Amino acid sequence: MWTPRFCLKWGPQLKQLRAAVASTQLRAISARIVNDSFIVVQPESEGSAGSESLTYPGVWLRDNCSCSECFHASSQSRRLDWDNFDASVRPQHLHTDADTQEIHVRWSDSHVSSYSLQWLRERSFKDQRQRNYLDDFYRPRTHHWRGADFEHVAQRFDYGDVMHDDRALRDWLQALAVYGVALIGGAPIDKGVVRQLAERVGFIRRTTYGEEFIVQAKPGAKNFAYLSDPLPLHTDLPYYEYKPSVNILHCMVQTESRGGSNLLVDAFHIADRLRAEHPEDFERLKETPVDWNDIGSEDGREFHNIWRSPVICLDGDGRYTRINHSVPQRDSHFNVPLDQVLPWYESYARFVRMARADAHSFKTQPGDVLTFNNIRLLHGRTGYDDTEENSRYIVGAYLDWDIIYSRLRVLKKKLPPA
Ligand SMILES: [Zn+2]
Repeated sequence: MWTPRFCLKWGPQLKQLRAAVASTQLRAISARIVNDSFIVVQPESEGSAGSESLTYPGVWLRDNCSCSECFHASSQSRRLDWDNFDASVRPQHLHTDADTQEIHVRWSDSHVSSYSLQWLRERSFKDQRQRNYLDDFYRPRTHHWRGADFEHVAQRFDYGDVMHDDRALRDWLQALAVYGVALIGGAPIDKGVVRQLAERVGFIRRTTYGEEFIVQAKPGAKNFAYLSDPLPLHTDLPYYEYKPSVNILHCMVQTESRGGSNLLVDAFHIADRLRAEHPEDFERLKETPVDWNDIGSEDGREFHNIWRSPVICLDGDGRYTRINHSVPQRDSHFNVPLDQVLPWYESYARFVRMARADAHSFKTQPGDVLTFNNIRLLHGRTGYDDTEENSRYIVGAYLDWDIIYSRLRVLKKKLPPA
């Protein structure tokens, strides 16, 4: 039955409501209950734009009631009592309001809820609407590329624009999400640049090696990256369960010697090719767990990191979630059945050869900031020689995708579409 509170609020409309029972029609919006469980909304007169009917499960609508009893508006959070939620709750009465473009529902638990047509449209269960949401707002759909196409896909942004113009910030993060790589030029020769960029997005992801890290040749370096020898293609920190997502590498001093070039490969593209051309190798690399490790000490703290994960990781929808590859940081412990070892080596060697053959080489200049997706791209560096006058000096930091996607969504809601 109606509670007094709702009677008061709804008093003038009760007559209409009683007449409505399971179907109601007001000027430009109507709704009906179907199979006792669904509510079908018909926005406008048939034939006009946006008039497609929209179907919603009743239980979902009840779960998403936005009244102050069920929803805490300032924190945008559900406060419904789910310990006592009736999953078989049914819509009993509908009432539509053409002026406010709202639908009011009375439920079998006596509660009354209101939904605006706009809110409903934004949450339509239609396939196309859900695809658009998932492929743009949730996470932009990735575009995979060959090394030969690098110059076309790697967009360039200006440091000042990214720091001061929200549209440039959005465009940089969008490019990073779609292509996995983007360049920022015109940054000052200042050690604070990577932090400023990271804090423009959110905050730096700290690792064993600190927040900002310096990549320069150090005799007797404890980390492979701190040698001036060629650095083979790899992803950083595969030995973390929650691997840092995006590298920000600010070139402050570039070597004048030959070498010191960056190598980049879209490993999602290599995985695509492997799946198409050598499916048995693809299967092995996605099924066989590999022990990745890093052992050492930093700032007096000893560490022994291990994470077991295949080279190619996918989610339930078949989307790549992560690529792991690092020659120095693959453990000698290989905890798989004996008969899997030989075939895995063949498959992994093929993956590495295909990646190396596709690597694009380019040399950043002082003031350039190279940003790329460490979950997806392999990166490396050709060897170089430092001199007393010219010592290559790169400052790096990591950002996490959670933080980047969040910032990107906030910007997309705030700004007009690109
Ligand atoms: Zn409610």
